[in-house]
Amino acid sequence: MAPPKLAAGNWKMNGTLQSLAELDALPTAPGVEVLICPPALLVQPMAGRAAGRIMVGGQDCHAAASGAHTGDIAAAQLKDAGASHVIVGHSERRSDHGETDAAVMAKAAAAHQAGLVAIICVGETEAQRDSGETLSVIAGQLAASVPDCATAANTVIAYEPVWAIGTGRTPSAAQIAEVHDAMRQALCARFADGAEISLLYGGSVKPANAAEIFAIPHVNGALVGGASLKAADFGPIISALS
Ligand code: PEP
Repeated sequence: MAPPKLAAGNWKMNGTLQSLAELDALPTAPGVEVLICPPALLVQPMAGRAAGRIMVGGQDCHAAASGAHTGDIAAAQLKDAGASHVIVGHSERRSDHGETDAAVMAKAAAAHQAGLVAIICVGETEAQRDSGETLSVIAGQLAASVPDCATAANTVIAYEPVWAIGTGRTPSAAQIAEVHDAMRQALCARFADGAEISLLYGGSVKPANAAEIFAIPHVNGALVGGASLKAADFGPIISALS
């Protein structure tokens, strides 16, 4: 079976209850799943408003099921609020909060335990790309961040070069293809259904470059930051994926 096509939006620390009106203007596209990961406070109202049309996810979860972790959110609480997915290991979490591959793996396993799909992010820094380390960095992050319990049903991998996030810069099609091909091979070598795990590209995806990116082999969708905030931008990206 081909991996599902997924257009995923990451609102980061943007949006208020008023922003939920953007959902009403989003198109549906045949064969394309649409997901938005808003700030945690908006998960429940978004799930209510988008029911059946758009899936809702968290942007992070704690590795523990519950307990004394002030300010954190458990995967089961996201699920309870109506989330189906959670992003783990976004580069902003890795850099702002010092999250290691081991921490990301534990969060992904907690997401699976709670019945959520984990979107596990990997990506090289500009210095790592410049020094020719991209493929080894990605292979290392995949090995150390993706738990053994990963399956095509509970896991999505997002390749997000750190230097492309929010910068307006994107890798060339050949560079994206090289990484996605390597990720597919690594997943197939490790998981029985590795060929069916959805692989997203993320980093400055916009209406103007979406179609070219979606034409690259083993790109099954996108994780979109800035351009997911407005239906006028995210809508054409969703349509380009169908
Ligand atoms: C992201 O933060 O996951 C992202 C891809 O951001 P942007 O699309 O704004 O580069």
